[in-house]
Amino acid sequence: MDVVVVGGGVVGALTALECARAGHRVTLVERGPLPNPAASSHDQHRNLRALHPGDPSTSLAGLRAHEAWLRLESVLGKRFYHVVGALSVGPRVSEATAVPGERLDSAELRRRFPQFVFPDGSTGFLERDAGVLLADKVLDAVVAWLLAQPDVDLLPHNEVVAVEPGAVRLAGGRVLHGDRIVVAAGPWTRSVVKDDQVTVRRQTMLYCSPPAWPALPAIPSLGTDSGAWLVPPVGGTQLKLSADSACRPVSEVDGTTPTRTDALVGLFRELVPAFEPGWVVGARDCHYTIGPDGGARLVEFAGGVLALTACGGGSFKFAPLIGRALTARIGGDRSEPTGLTAMDHPVPGGDPC
Ligand SMILES: Cc1cc2nc3c(=O)[nH]c(=O)nc-3n(C[C@H](O)[C@H](O)[C@H](O)COP(=O)(O)OP(=O)(O)OC[C@H]3O[C@@H](n4cnc5c(N)ncnc54)[C@H](O)[C@@H]3O)c2cc1C
Repeated sequence: MDVVVVGGGVVGALTALECARAGHRVTLVERGPLPNPAASSHDQHRNLRALHPGDPSTSLAGLRAHEAWLRLESVLGKRFYHVVGALSVGPRVSEATAVPGERLDSAELRRRFPQFVFPDGSTGFLERDAGVLLADKVLDAVVAWLLAQPDVDLLPHNEVVAVEPGAVRLAGGRVLHGDRIVVAAGPWTRSVVKDDQVTVRRQTMLYCSPPAWPALPAIPSLGTDSGAWLVPPVGGTQLKLSADSACRPVSEVDGTTPTRTDALVGLFRELVPAFEPGWVVGARDCHYTIGPDGGARLVEFAGGVLALTACGGGSFKFAPLIGRALTARIGGDRSEPTGLTAMDHPVPGGDPC
């Protein structure tokens, strides 16, 4: 089939890769360069944790994502996944789970991770099959692979202005036709296909260069009410700090000057006793979109158009599963699961435009 993919972030790029591997002819359209540093996926790193406390099916999908990234490294012949484990701290993290790892009681948590101040009585779970994905290196590797495929056309610097059944209209008037169209334009998807149930979130992140930092796992949750998390410096990257409290709903996706930096500095001074504001070497606001259930959302429109109308705040790690499931769906197989309800049971839409 002829498949047109709109958006060269991690979801679009991996969907293009899976479609090409399945034998489809693929055109990947991106409004900026490929990869595009402005994409939500473009960053030094992203955490991969499988454990989603109280949600066994998403945790299982997380384990499948871990396997999928290891496989992708061997397909692409590049290293971008550092399996350093992941530490989650919080009230429900020690509940029964199929995720391999160690439960840490309060005393053990403090003994093993003396760098942090945890809330009183916190327990932890240290996952084994988890870690840090070097996001920009992932995008570089996938784009390099796509460039080498005879049946893949890459169209950087081409903005899609409308998506219609079976067709994609570019700025300048050119129209691309496809048997199937996948729209994965991240938080910008809503500007080309309609879904009024999607909202935008903007989150500030701090990038730090501490003088010394021990080898630590990814820490998707420090167990605080503020939802503090961090990505450790692995493979030459910086330490990244943020918190759910630095995330807010906004009406537009645009490049603003980050506004929550002081609040994050204050927060991490309390949580990391050694932290110095002088460690901070940069800050960035990044956007994602959510559907009504707080996560990603897939809508299946008329005329063979599949759109990830909400990209979700944790979809980087699931992107290989999403790419595979979308490709299976294009080939008529609706049984390939991502494990994510929003992907496995897409919402029907009418006309995309
Ligand atoms: C602060 C923050 C922290 C996060 N942390 C994690 C984490 O630790 N782990 C995790 O798994 N996930 C995390 N996420 C979520 C993850 O980054 C996103 O879910 C994921 O990157 C979305 O990828 P995407 O390909 O859908 O969108 P994007 O990466 O945004 O890609 C969309 C692409 O489409 C292009 N585009 C847009 N409009 C058009 C158009 N009209 N025509 C052509 N091209 C267009 C854009 O230029 C862009 O390149 C985080 C997100 C944020 C904001």
